[in-house]
Amino acid sequence: MRAERPTFFRRRSQSVAVIEKRKLLVTSKQDLSKLRGTPPSYAWPTVRTYHVTTFGCQMNEHDSERMKGMLESLGYMEAESQDQADLILFNTCSIRENADNRLTAYLGHAKRIKREHPDRIVGVGGCWAQSIKEEVFARFPFVDVAFGPGQVHKLAEFLTSDSITAQGFFEFEGFTGRLPAKRAREFQGWVQISVGCNSVCAYCIVPSTRGREVSRDPGELVSEVRRIADDGVREVTLLGQNVNSYGRDLPGDERASFAELLARVDAIDGIDRIRYTSPHPKDMREDVIRAHAELPALCEHIPLPLQSGSSAVLKRMRRTYTRERYLDRVAMIREHVPDCALTTDVIVGFPGESDADFAQTLTLAEDVAYDGAFTFIYSPRRGTEAATLPDQIPHELKVERLERLVEVIQRRARERAQRFVGRTVEVLVEGPSRTDPSRLRGRSRHNKVVNFTGLGAVGELVQVEVTRATSQTLSGHESILSRAAV
Ligand code: SAM
Ligand code: SF4
Repeated sequence: MRAERPTFFRRRSQSVAVIEKRKLLVTSKQDLSKLRGTPPSYAWPTVRTYHVTTFGCQMNEHDSERMKGMLESLGYMEAESQDQADLILFNTCSIRENADNRLTAYLGHAKRIKREHPDRIVGVGGCWAQSIKEEVFARFPFVDVAFGPGQVHKLAEFLTSDSITAQGFFEFEGFTGRLPAKRAREFQGWVQISVGCNSVCAYCIVPSTRGREVSRDPGELVSEVRRIADDGVREVTLLGQNVNSYGRDLPGDERASFAELLARVDAIDGIDRIRYTSPHPKDMREDVIRAHAELPALCEHIPLPLQSGSSAVLKRMRRTYTRERYLDRVAMIREHVPDCALTTDVIVGFPGESDADFAQTLTLAEDVAYDGAFTFIYSPRRGTEAATLPDQIPHELKVERLERLVEVIQRRARERAQRFVGRTVEVLVEGPSRTDPSRLRGRSRHNKVVNFTGLGAVGELVQVEVTRATSQTLSGHESILSRAAV
């Protein structure tokens, strides 16, 4: 039978205006270090639990891994649901309005839990928290701690401090992630190569939530990849808002370009696959494109964000490239790596987008024939330039444009995927297929989901003969003769 929940928090009455944090009783560093490494069976009666709900992009997924790693080093264990957790955390996103709306619904649930169990702690981290800062506490008085994306480590400070006041941590401090990460899959790892963004895309809230771009030292990054490779990671994804500008802010003697960083990561034993996100068409250079042809571990996939096919809209978006420059990058990719998968991000309904502008996006999508795309309805974000622009597009028109774009993207992706039928592709096995658990699921180097019949173990590289392809997935069976060496 599960032991009774320990009382970790001293109860205090909650005043209307000041939201108070419950003070931890077992929080000295010595107490916590005693918990570290204690077998779960002994630690069970005293271990606190946490639950993290993550919204948004891969960067946020990775920040959540760091939150989890940090909490486990403090002796917390992951709970299966919010209802069972002593510490209920949300890692938030503010990129689009619907992310805000989903979060508000989740917070409503946390509020109910907190009403029934006032000793629970509710924390809100990430971009949305950063975008509204202290307003979090006014709008959601049951929240105990709020912190921006660069402030994950402050959560530990809060949890181990004696402060009784609700606290917000919203300073930009560059890269603060020398925290341990708890990876969702032990064979896949994310490594953040830079934080922040120096671009000023008119629609985007990221520069105000994640600050100016700061690159991490290349030597430190290589050591981190080496460490996770020793730990079993064979596929690493390098993360940055603009990976192509990586290193430009580093001092001369430490500087490495993104292409150089890729080469150094490629040379690390045990790393079979390298991916990255996001590149920026304005900074995408030939050396990086060539690296895809030359470095064995660098996958044949580039997620090259378009945003709009109209140069006039791109200009108003302040993307600093034109339709022609973008198509020139696509041509360069196809020249050096003809089979490279190309995916993209597109926004429809940016203020002032005319029918003719949108038609240019459609023709570009038709001509490029992407392997896949994330398509977004433009959503005005507080504090961004675009939110104040005239000629906001009516919602119905945005939806109609989105549907037309999705039709083109999917049709072209389906056509393009047929090139894999009859081929044998390398697949990294991720687990059972979501639609048919008797089959397996994994990803090809081109980042296609592959459902297949076979015997491969999770984390293993296997060869799969592809028999069918849709716009999103490939299907086939494992080629027994050509199993890749583990
Ligand atoms: N730094 C990356 C880039 O430049 O592509 C990714 C930024 S953002 C996290 C991911 C995508 O969200 C963007 O590529 C863009 O398509 C979309 N996005 C950002 N702001 C948006 C907004 N206000 N409305 C709709 N989509 C938006
Ligand atoms: Fe946002 Fe533009 Fe920076 Fe991407 S490059 S994070 S879209 S400002």
